[in-house]
Amino acid sequence: MNILLLGSGGREHALAWKLAQSPSMGQFYAIPGNPGIAEHAELIEGIPLSAHDTIVKWCQDHGIDFVVVGPEAPLVAGLVDRLEAVGIPAFGPTAAAARLEGSKLFTKELCKANSIPTAAFGRFTSAAEGAAYVRQQGAPIVVKADGLMAGKGVVVALSEEEAVDAVEQVFAGGGTEVLIEEFMEGEEASLFALVDGETVVLFGSAQDHKRAFDGDLGPNTGGMGAYSPAPVLTPELERRALDEILIPTARAMVAAGAPYRGVLYAGLMLTADGPKLVEYNCRFGDPECQVLMPRFKGDLVQVLHATATGQLAQVTPEWSQDAAMTVVYASRGYPGPHQVGSPIGGIEAAAELDGVLVFQAGTRRKGVALVSNGGRVLNVTATGATLGEARDRAYAGIARIDWPDGFYRSDIGWRALGKGAR
Ligand code: AMP
Repeated sequence: MNILLLGSGGREHALAWKLAQSPSMGQFYAIPGNPGIAEHAELIEGIPLSAHDTIVKWCQDHGIDFVVVGPEAPLVAGLVDRLEAVGIPAFGPTAAAARLEGSKLFTKELCKANSIPTAAFGRFTSAAEGAAYVRQQGAPIVVKADGLMAGKGVVVALSEEEAVDAVEQVFAGGGTEVLIEEFMEGEEASLFALVDGETVVLFGSAQDHKRAFDGDLGPNTGGMGAYSPAPVLTPELERRALDEILIPTARAMVAAGAPYRGVLYAGLMLTADGPKLVEYNCRFGDPECQVLMPRFKGDLVQVLHATATGQLAQVTPEWSQDAAMTVVYASRGYPGPHQVGSPIGGIEAAAELDGVLVFQAGTRRKGVALVSNGGRVLNVTATGATLGEARDRAYAGIARIDWPDGFYRSDIGWRALGKGAR
């Protein structure tokens, strides 16, 4: 099979690394890719991911059999619909199904209509109504803008004043509707499932670290590290999330005429009443994907293709018993302003260590040198018989990276390791 992978982050490097191991891989291309992905696939330059016409034509001209979409934006914008219209299967939901990520309101209404456990909510089209609801419900309370906000549209308000401010911000920023949610208390975990319309197959769990600095301090980021599995997600809780959240969602999407195909990534809150949905994402997480891929033992091409073509019932994914951890090495200043273009050394030396893989994100080649080219730059990843061993190996890998302009968190995994997970 000739395959095109779309995206340029650490998530896509991890996917490329695993896809390239498949016996059914023919020609392998990536748009736009990065220098890590270039070790596995031929990079195609000059085509933006928003240029759907050009991408579809390029696939037709190059005999592409299957497209794997990494990031959410092309999914929400309907690239998979366009590819399917010309008979090219693609991994990822149609635009109508990607509303599970693209519109928080769509998802909340779907949960309500199907009794899927999630935070109670109200939706309001004026700041005055929103403020009145906040006063009535009290704090803590959560205020959300609709749409793809890359995690920035959410305020967990500890006081009513903060919540009212956040409501006003939504409308001042041009929003036309605000979502106000009950505050859910518990530990968060990510649960992944492959869905081919009807069939839902669990595909690993993880926990990430959103804040920039040790001790969960500092600003929110795209994620500074992750580990898999999430020990807090016991088999019983996974089963409940599957039965009470994921399967009813897949059924509801079929009933709504927008069957979901792709990876459905559920952000869960593990509350005293059981798992509740915080949000859905319609693609793999970044950096969660970097800890799922080293643990997945099967043929990724086969599994993703079966997902895209409605044949998932025939697939049983196999997983290594190992734990995996990834530590993000980011540019100093991220998620705020930061320099790019500084030289990075030591990747090969790190990758020589037992169980260590370095997935690249914001990097580029400058001549033969590798330089930084974004906020999150490397994902130093390791597997081990225990989470502690994976952690020790990942940080041994970090120690071999020579990049004075970077920083990383030194406490990835604290939640699980602090609770006595080995
Ligand atoms: P979201 O973009 O909806 O995932 O929200 C981002 C983050 O805000 C989540 O990962 C949670 O940490 C937090 N959050 C969102 N909704 C709630 C809620 N109803 N209760 C508590 N925390 C929430």
